[in-house]
Amino acid sequence: MPDSDNDHGTWLRRAERWVPSTRHRIAGADEDGSGASFRVRSPRDGRELAVVADAGEPEIDRAVHAARRAFDAGPWPRLPPAARGQALLRLADLIEEHRCELALAVSLENGKPISEAYGVELRAAIATFRWYGQLADKLHDTSPHTDPGALALVTREPTGVVGAVVPWNFPLSLASWKLAPALAAGCTAVLKPSELTPLSSLLLGRLADESGLPPGVLNVVAGDGPVAGRALGLHPGVDVLAFTGSTAVGRHFLRYAADSNLKRVWLELGGKSPNIVLPDAPDLETAAATAAWAVFFNQGEMCTAPSRLLVHSSVAERIVDTVVGRARALRVGDPLDPATEMGAVAGEARVRAVLGHVRAGQEAGARLRTGGARLDRVPGGSYLEPTVFDRVTPDMRIAREEVFGPVLSVLTFDTEEEAVALANDTEYGLAAAVWTADLGTAHRLSRALRAGTVWVNCYEEGGLSVPFGGYKQSGNGRDKSVHALEKYTELKTTWMQW
Ligand code: NAD
Repeated sequence: MPDSDNDHGTWLRRAERWVPSTRHRIAGADEDGSGASFRVRSPRDGRELAVVADAGEPEIDRAVHAARRAFDAGPWPRLPPAARGQALLRLADLIEEHRCELALAVSLENGKPISEAYGVELRAAIATFRWYGQLADKLHDTSPHTDPGALALVTREPTGVVGAVVPWNFPLSLASWKLAPALAAGCTAVLKPSELTPLSSLLLGRLADESGLPPGVLNVVAGDGPVAGRALGLHPGVDVLAFTGSTAVGRHFLRYAADSNLKRVWLELGGKSPNIVLPDAPDLETAAATAAWAVFFNQGEMCTAPSRLLVHSSVAERIVDTVVGRARALRVGDPLDPATEMGAVAGEARVRAVLGHVRAGQEAGARLRTGGARLDRVPGGSYLEPTVFDRVTPDMRIAREEVFGPVLSVLTFDTEEEAVALANDTEYGLAAAVWTADLGTAHRLSRALRAGTVWVNCYEEGGLSVPFGGYKQSGNGRDKSVHALEKYTELKTTWMQW
């Protein structure tokens, strides 16, 4: 963040002056729809941020038809790929120009620290549109060898209209992971953000139109899951449904597809990621500090949060002491203060859910080492203490269920086999980490761990060139990298014979 922005008062003044976008964005224009609306509150202080147009089936239908027209008859899928790429680069530039306003929207609607909204979240969104903008004209079709009397062409074609449904924890970067590859491939899209965080996405929709995307290429419609999300999932005009969210709602989307047009469904779902610290970790202090940073980052509202710390019993005490110290030292406070390290969780429902997990941990006999209570930081806001449990056993709820909040469960092991068995003893398979100085151990464990990403001696590292997604009930398909294009394209074989 530039020095000129690195000031609490500056962000407070910006928040006072901010006028959010509150209307759907359909076919290049603002729309109120039927006039129904819902309120968006800031978890920072519980105050109402905006009254937003609420989509029912008719609005979803109009948005899908706009995307359908733009795909079936509009220029977008027929443009030279370089022209599509240029359009995405223009959009990335415009997002960068509006970085402060978008970061403010994300921080206020979600509660995350402004430094992370401006930093991690906006950096990722801008970089994603740039990366796929630059990739758009560098893809190749193939021509496999055939009998001499034939020529086979295997071409990749855009699948059509994409419905993108995303959660509230990274409203813009997760949306960009869907939209950028889909648009680069030549698809058109309808984005439905979470009802908790629609404001940043509605602004993104306006910027997309201002950047010169043809009308209907990107439509953004606000509304809640069981109505607007369901209508998108069931709509026969949607060819691909790209979802990020909970495993429970992911199941709904598979049902919607089965009950409608068998649209392709791609799911990025929950996690309960294990972080394994072996006694030969190159630096135990770094392992412990990273474990604490990663589990409390974004208030613990991370699908990849390393919420199960698996520590070799010989180093457990030392590691847990450091983690607890780090948890206590974390600066929890006003999201609009650039010095804040942990902001508000995403509202009162999250406070209740997380404290329910804390109670379950205590009742099951885990030892609460620190945290476990709510904090009063900005009056009316939803703040929680960073929480660490040790003496957790694998059968406890806090060892099995995704908390999606700042709660760490520490389990111990004595052998490598035990560590792998504990790590894989979960319905999820999104991410994992191993801390060891031994290359052989690192490779052996990486192969044994059933997870889409395995970090060795680090956590949350990786750029756009690497795929991201889950094994098991953490989902299917991959976001980021060239592999994301597989979600939004069909392979066509043309066989010519003479
Ligand atoms: P959620 O599943 O409740 O909601 C996600 C989206 O689905 C929202 O837009 C919501 O409106 C919509 N939705 C809710 N109910 C619906 C229904 N019945 N029909 C259709 N749509 C519906 O998830 P959340 O609480 O917003 O986000 C937290 C979850 O997201 C966690 O489980 C987390 O692990 C997961 N997540 C996964 C990833 C990943 O990449 N794997 C990334 C971030 C978050």
